[in-house]
Amino acid sequence: MPGYHYSRVEPTPVPDPHLLAWSDDLGAYLGLHRPPERGPAVEALAGNRVTDTMKPFAARYGGHQFGSWAGQLGDGRAISLGEVTATDNSTWEIQLKGAGPTPYSRRADGRAVLRSSLREFLCSEAMHYLGVPTTRALSLVATGDIVVRDMFYNGNPRPEPGAVVARVAPTFIRFGNFQIMTATGEMDNLRAIVDYVIRHHYPELGEPSPEVYLRWFEEVCRRTAVMIAHWMSVGFVHGVMNTDNMSILGLTIDYGPYGWLEPYDPDWTPNTTDFGSRRYAFGQQPHVGLWNLYQLARALAPMVENVEGLNQGLEQYRTTIAATQHQMMMRKLGLTAQAEEEDRALIERLHEALAESQVDMTLFFRRLCHVAYDLVANPGNEDGLFQDLLAAAGYAELGSQQQPLIDWLHRYSNRLRQESVGAEAIREGMLRANPKYVLRNYLAQQAIEAAEAGDLSFLNRLMEVLKTPYDEQPEHDDLAAKRPAWASDKPGSATL
Ligand code: AMP
Ligand code: MG
Ligand code: MG
Repeated sequence: MPGYHYSRVEPTPVPDPHLLAWSDDLGAYLGLHRPPERGPAVEALAGNRVTDTMKPFAARYGGHQFGSWAGQLGDGRAISLGEVTATDNSTWEIQLKGAGPTPYSRRADGRAVLRSSLREFLCSEAMHYLGVPTTRALSLVATGDIVVRDMFYNGNPRPEPGAVVARVAPTFIRFGNFQIMTATGEMDNLRAIVDYVIRHHYPELGEPSPEVYLRWFEEVCRRTAVMIAHWMSVGFVHGVMNTDNMSILGLTIDYGPYGWLEPYDPDWTPNTTDFGSRRYAFGQQPHVGLWNLYQLARALAPMVENVEGLNQGLEQYRTTIAATQHQMMMRKLGLTAQAEEEDRALIERLHEALAESQVDMTLFFRRLCHVAYDLVANPGNEDGLFQDLLAAAGYAELGSQQQPLIDWLHRYSNRLRQESVGAEAIREGMLRANPKYVLRNYLAQQAIEAAEAGDLSFLNRLMEVLKTPYDEQPEHDDLAAKRPAWASDKPGSATL
């Protein structure tokens, strides 16, 4: 209902909208062609042109930020234009991020800078091609405006070009859309949004009823578990898992200060404002997912007759994330289920050994695909193979720090030989589970710096390569290289 769930709002026009990037595959799926750099389509994608069929609105939601209830906080800078029908008849919401103030902007400007918009655009598409459930991005449009977001860049305010991303998902409704209703005692509005989501996005569950509410919550828990298991499998760190950034569809949403794990470190967070508590560090994500679902359960409790039933959903989360992470890791290692207990212990030991040895997560697993092949096809030179692997993927000089990982590799080698399939089949399976190309933080940064200087070639190249991240693409080896020393631990900026 307007005024409660959302507010009708017109985007605020910008001086000179021009297209910087366009997602061809998503466009084709939605039946949209890449528009010219300037013109009516790009004006619509910047919020300058609202057609009769669009009904722009901003959603109202609250959330827990860093563990504390923050009340109503959004959406201060995302304006949805309405829905489009894709070529397969499914419907998709198109939302402009950075299209100007809304009734929920509080004292902020409703704008976004090119830096953060490019990061969202690139990463949401990269995640999709990796196979991770995510919202999508259709276009990146520069506004011709200057926005000041970072007030303390080397001590001075830093003017930056503004941009708008058109992002796309079946819906952008978050946990916080439900929480705000319960927090303000708007029980009719709570029920209305729950029923809406079930009818439109979970129709397979049947007509809403107290029993269906429980099954729906369980399904939200299951999807959230699958999403976070994917993050853990590819080394993605969301960075700001507040409950307002948790999609009710189990999609990765809100690409802010995210980052990719380079040296394997469960305590690593890309978010500079989280350096103290490390609440949203890589290794915390499975736990935070559960905490966030618990907050959603609290918001839904007034609607269900059997509050205890919500525990089943939380239990579903625990079992799904454990099982999914285990299956994904088995695939990454080229192992099929045989000795369950032994395999669990092997995987647990790997996490510890990786953390001790400071190896690059993506490089280690990708190289392991080829090492596994050799271990099975040409046994005999284990020590040499392992030394080469650690030299290629490690950040530290080879030394005693790597011994746990070498010991683990010997153990893995023995286990691998119990597999009945051949070396080639093992490698092929592993190459599909261990991406070669991920959006390393410094690569995104290079694309930003070039784009700010008017050069889009690196952005375009990254977009192409990240479309098939599991393919070898040897001509792009430099984009799969270990992070250079100059890029050491450049954090994602919190001023997005
Ligand atoms: P985030 O922590 O990035 O998820 O932001 C939390 C909320 O703050 C968003 O949902 C927005 O409603 C609001 N917000 C962030 N940046 C801006 C901005 N530049 N203008 C208006 N609202 C903003
Ligand atoms: Mg957000
Ligand atoms: Mg954000």
